[in-house]
Amino acid sequence: MSAADLVRRLVRDEIRALSAYHVASAEGMVKLDAMENPYRLPEAVRAEIGRAVADALINRYPDPAAPALAAALRRSFNIPEGAGLLIGNGSDEIITIITQALAGPGAVMLAPEPSFAMFRMNAVFSHMRFAGVPLRADFTLDVEAFISALDAHQPALVFLAYPNNPTGNLYPEEDVARILRAAPGLVVVDEAYFAFAGRSFMPRLAEFPNLVVMRTVSKIGMAGLRLGYAAAAPELMDEFNKVRPPYNVGIATQLIATALLGHMDLLNAQAASIKAERAGLAAGVAALPGAHVYPSDANFILARFADGPAVFNALKAHHVLVKNFHGAHPMLANCLRLTVGTPEENAIMLKALAQS
Ligand code: PMP
Repeated sequence: MSAADLVRRLVRDEIRALSAYHVASAEGMVKLDAMENPYRLPEAVRAEIGRAVADALINRYPDPAAPALAAALRRSFNIPEGAGLLIGNGSDEIITIITQALAGPGAVMLAPEPSFAMFRMNAVFSHMRFAGVPLRADFTLDVEAFISALDAHQPALVFLAYPNNPTGNLYPEEDVARILRAAPGLVVVDEAYFAFAGRSFMPRLAEFPNLVVMRTVSKIGMAGLRLGYAAAAPELMDEFNKVRPPYNVGIATQLIATALLGHMDLLNAQAASIKAERAGLAAGVAALPGAHVYPSDANFILARFADGPAVFNALKAHHVLVKNFHGAHPMLANCLRLTVGTPEENAIMLKALAQS
């Protein structure tokens, strides 16, 4: 029997029907496809990281409670004292953990569409039924339609990316609060881009027992570490922590993240430059003939072009890598997502766009 036969016989139909999360090769490219922070760390901070890991007990499993990291996260991100904390190997893993914990028979996951692809993927992995609520054509949230969908589908789990990826917009805070009040199940407010948004549900955790605030350090300069965290009522976190693989966040990540969280002033200054650059980039793209830029509160902008794939290929020919969403969802036809880079990188991208 061939491996192909085994795949056909054993691997679930819905898994075979999926495409793997696509990561393009960035060799030799100006990399503006994945919402990374473009800035390197100063020499002194790099040396500090070196010292932090030099003495790490890498022959031992890491402490699963990660007490130093947990304390640093609580301090740096104003996690309310009474809240429970969950740490993940990236917030990708937190999405998986929460979905696994809630995926009972017939359970439904609800999210706006288009949004982050891993929500739906995890519903498929865990046998949850996914129901999408379309955003309006301009990507604003139709809160009445969302509340009707809550009523119709009675979802155990709602994901709201706040700001949304790939559209970049932040839904009105009161709309999200209405959804939190109307939802029969949990609502994960995914604040992956909180550093560029300036609005957060973290201070409102105590108000909503069904609220989980999820974040990542990936967009503020630590994508390579793989670290996400979530805060919610301790009763919920106790259950999610049972699903979490015990050693999911390695010692190197724990030590390096703890060290870097001691430099919040530096991380905040980098996020502030990215925010400042975003305005210039958006204006530059909007001035191009045939381009439409959507409002963004994140570290990327979504833009629609007359021929998105042609612009994507022209950028690639100029060694600029962005994310092409044409074909990913009908509402994203001809859309490209441009990560905000350094001033130099943004200038290269704008010049390439002008020539495309
Ligand atoms: N949520 C959203 C909305 C995202 O855009 C991303 C990254 N693309 C993630 C979660 C996952 O981030 P990470 O696994 O790097 O923490």
